[in-house]
Amino acid sequence: MNHVAFIGLGHMGGPMALNLIKGGYRLTVFDLVPAALDKAREGGAAVAASAAEAVRDADFVISMLPASPHVEDLYLGRGQLLAHAKPGALLIDCSTIATQTAVEVSKAAAAKGFDMIDAPVSGGTAGAAAGTLTFIVGGTDAALERARPLLEKMGKNIFHAGDHGAGQTAKICNNMLLAIHMIGTAEALNLGVSLGLDPGVLSEIIQKSSGRNWSTELYNPWPGVMENVPASRGYEGGFGVDLMLKDLGLALEAGLQGKAPTPLGAAARNLYHLHSQAGGGALDFSSILKLLQKH
Ligand code: NAD
Repeated sequence: MNHVAFIGLGHMGGPMALNLIKGGYRLTVFDLVPAALDKAREGGAAVAASAAEAVRDADFVISMLPASPHVEDLYLGRGQLLAHAKPGALLIDCSTIATQTAVEVSKAAAAKGFDMIDAPVSGGTAGAAAGTLTFIVGGTDAALERARPLLEKMGKNIFHAGDHGAGQTAKICNNMLLAIHMIGTAEALNLGVSLGLDPGVLSEIIQKSSGRNWSTELYNPWPGVMENVPASRGYEGGFGVDLMLKDLGLALEAGLQGKAPTPLGAAARNLYHLHSQAGGGALDFSSILKLLQKH
């Protein structure tokens, strides 16, 4: 019972898969990008020729894909995972997707006899590499308990948000707030620097004052202020602008559905949209600073 199929080895999935191998699990992996497969092979994974082949003998299936259409396509569309997975396998989708899609896919899985949880993550690429992610789970208690030993190899906090889809709802609320405070942090730093302050000194002051937040503590958007963050390596790696844009779209749709106003979420989405259109789509989301800087 330790054979895991891992589908989607990008910025997050790649290091998560390696942590499972280090934790003693046997992995069969699949991604569309050959370089991602090579890295996983070097780490000790077996590489499959397709997602269907990867899941055939696996007790657990983990997917870590960009967005809702990819997850729908993998499980219900061309990937046909529900037709190929081993009977009784537990399905764990860690992608950040629409709540409604998570509910639909888990219902389709249940109709074929599979338990499934949505388990989106927080903690970024550094958390994925260090095995310190936060998992935000939607699904039954029993399915979460089956998944827990694996999740513990990849993360240090595991929350049960509620039934199917609840993990996605909680994740979307978190990411809307992340976008808002990242933009706020970039705006404040840019203001201070434009008036002659040193970005490092200003960051230190904010970090010990009431403006302190996750971005100033762990993910400073100003290049060179903090080591080992995307801002200090040309905004490469990390959490892409287009993925953040997707999450903000999900938050606004959720706001309409729940009849909850999201004025700052809407402003954040517009700013990320402009940044993406200006060519920043593939950069880390902390590069929103570039949209505010003088050119
Ligand atoms: P990514 O684009 O780096 O990786 C996605 C991977 O999925 C790619 O390697 C791609 O080739 C692969 N893929 C796409 N379709 C596939 C298919 N049909 N079969 C197999 N592989 C397929 O994205 P990421 O940054 O790793 O993010 C993955 C998910 O995690 C997203 O939903 C994102 O919103 C979420 N997330 C990302 C971060 C972050 O900091 N990067 C943090 C928390 C959550």
